[in-house]
Amino acid sequence: MIPGARLIILGRQGAGKGTQCVRLSRHYVVPHISTGDMLRAAVREGTELGLAAQKIMDKGGLVGDDIMVGLVDERLQRLDAASRGYILDGFPRTVEQAKSLDGITTDRPIHVVIDLDVPREVVVARISARRVCRDCGTNYTATGREKQPWICEVCGGDVMQRDDDTPDAVHRRLDLYEEQTAPLIQFYGDDGRLVVVDGTQTTDQVFGALTEVIERSRR
Ligand code: ADP
Repeated sequence: MIPGARLIILGRQGAGKGTQCVRLSRHYVVPHISTGDMLRAAVREGTELGLAAQKIMDKGGLVGDDIMVGLVDERLQRLDAASRGYILDGFPRTVEQAKSLDGITTDRPIHVVIDLDVPREVVVARISARRVCRDCGTNYTATGREKQPWICEVCGGDVMQRDDDTPDAVHRRLDLYEEQTAPLIQFYGDDGRLVVVDGTQTTDQVFGALTEVIERSRR
């Protein structure tokens, strides 16, 4: 077990972060904190944040650092995360966010940062087939033979393609990843917190590699 582990999973869009994080969060019983899911929930609820975020997300842009840091700070203070630890998915996404995260976690620092590495050509193909449960965030891969509407096996919610998984938005997000998020690999590499896991393996192999890294980091 890994009581109180605090992890970050980095990686390109479509690297399989979401699927692995959902599985890790069940395995270790720690909250999976996905900033993309939090923003999509705000969009569905029609909050002020949701309305502002939707325009940015549909174009494949990044929501402002201050807003994101505020949102995450609030979430990390909730009892589950404060006591059990957490898995951060989709945050930090810029060096600015990473520095702010260090600032808000000084008393309980992040244990390990994992880069789930999948090359760009591979993720473009994966994202076009990606379908997501709008309620619980479980990811599926479409074969084109599914019946509509597609019902989530985990929670019974509607499974659909994300509005921002169009080819233009995907390429914009991947460009932004190279510009803004890839520098985090050096940022966390420099201070020795980074471990790279090959995300092109089967999902079970990736899961095995992730749990190995996590348990090693907590010994
Ligand atoms: P993906 O990694 O597949 O692009 P996410 O579900 O993590 O998708 O995020 C969807 C969108 O939400 C992003 O394209 C971006 O607009 C916004 N977003 C999520 N997390 C952040 C963040 N940490 N900083 C800025 N924008 C974010």
